[in-house]
Amino acid sequence: MVSVKENLIEIEAGIQHAAERAGRNKEDINIIAVTKYVTIERTREVISAGITHLGENRNEGFLAKFEEIQADATWHFIGTLQTRKVKDIIHHIDYIHSLDRKSLAKEINKRSEKKVPCFVQVNVSGEESKHGLAVEEVEPFIKELAEYENIRVVGLMTMAPHFDNPEETRPLFKKLRLLRDHIKELHLDYAPCEYLSMGMSNDYEIAIEEGATHIRVGTKLVGKE
Ligand SMILES: *Cc1c(COP(=O)(O)O)cnc(C)c1O
Repeated sequence: MVSVKENLIEIEAGIQHAAERAGRNKEDINIIAVTKYVTIERTREVISAGITHLGENRNEGFLAKFEEIQADATWHFIGTLQTRKVKDIIHHIDYIHSLDRKSLAKEINKRSEKKVPCFVQVNVSGEESKHGLAVEEVEPFIKELAEYENIRVVGLMTMAPHFDNPEETRPLFKKLRLLRDHIKELHLDYAPCEYLSMGMSNDYEIAIEEGATHIRVGTKLVGKE
């Protein structure tokens, strides 16, 4: 298996190029290593390679890794979060990328003792299999979150469908960026909405060109077991 370090060198070159094309600073782009496919040993390799942001999409996987690695990482929950399971992870997680309904916001608000940085997940493509709010639902949803003092909307997140030609994701990423700009302009104190969590192994360069601040890379970085 190719080492994480070698994969990272290639990904960082891709980030550099995409940032240059877009006139952006590569320091503004955070790599979240998605470790859901791999072992704790492989995850340690990620930390050794210098990546501090880790992403997991299921409670079980998250808790298993968290127990071993804990404070060495910043933890991102990137998968669908069941309301009844919020209490199991909420005290350990640093960011939630999948806020997509009021019942979930209510539970996070209730279970956490401090403000939780959340990304609101948007289904930009409208594909039925994808989670997230429709574009037109996002503003009213975020306005409704005002009542929850422990919810902080730091950005928007999307998962693009898989296209053989990643260029086809561009209009979706652009749409999310424009929506982010719009929400940011509302100047809601609990929703600074500065970040864009978008781009995965196949399409992260396009996502960066369109403004991603957090890319979520699994397969290309750690492989798949
Ligand atoms: C699995 C996953 C990723 C990483 O996907 P790769 O194509 O392996 O890079 C990113 N985001 C979410 C929400 C995921 O579930």
